[in-house]
Amino acid sequence: MGTCEYCGTRFPLTRSTRKYCTSRCKTNACLNRKPRRLRADEVAALHELLHSDLDSPEAFREKLREIIAPHMEPLPVGVSVPRMD
Ligand SMILES: [Zn+2]
Repeated sequence: MGTCEYCGTRFPLTRSTRKYCTSRCKTNACLNRKPRRLRADEVAALHELLHSDLDSPEAFREKLREIIAPHMEPLPVGVSVPRMD
């Protein structure tokens, strides 16, 4: 058995290198780390995004995630929520 370094859950250790019980805990642990400074090319990508013309806020958020949080799971884009009226 191993102990998850993020939530403390005990889980069966399949590989000795595993530190987290699930990939979600791995992602969360990653997000909790002190944010690093953006690289010059990432800042350039953000400027490009600032001037880009995206059709939805979701598409914008997904582009933003790609730049600043590539380790995160992609956000759902283009899922339209039916309006209630
Ligand atoms: Zn965990």
